[in-house]
This record gives sequence, C-alpha cells and structure tokens, in this order.
Amino acid sequence: MNIKILSNCIRCGACTEIAAEVFDIYETSVVVNEYKIEANEDICIDAVLTCPVGAIKVEI
Ligand code: SF4
Repeated sequence: MNIKILSNCIRCGACTEIAAEVFDIYETSVVVNEYKIEANEDICIDAVLTCPVGAIKVEI
C-alpha cells in the first residue's frame, strides 16, 4: 500500500493523532513514513476515513 498526501491538506493533525508512526506534521507539510505503512495499515485506513478534506490518497 502506498500513501500520498494531496495538496489540499490543511495540516489539521488528525492523521498524526491516529497514526503517529506513519504521519508526521511539519510547518508546511505532512510527511508519510513509507517504511511504517505495512505494519500500521489498519490505522492508516482510519486516518484516510478521518481526514476532513480527503487529502490522504491510498494506492493498493
Ligand atoms: S488528516 Fe488530512 S488534512 Fe489533516 S493533516 Fe492529515 S492529511 Fe492533512
């Protein structure tokens, strides 16, 4: 599974609260720790469903 953060991300922090190991929030962007995705797929999906603007794109 690959995850990308789209440009409409508003840096609300929800994904980092749900899946802190995978998503890191910085001043201007959210970064995905790709090597952490496989072990955390369930909470990654939770983050996708929770993102208020649909900015987390998943490619399976
Ligand atoms: S939940 Fe969505 S809008 Fe919020 S920081 Fe994560 S990717 Fe961005």
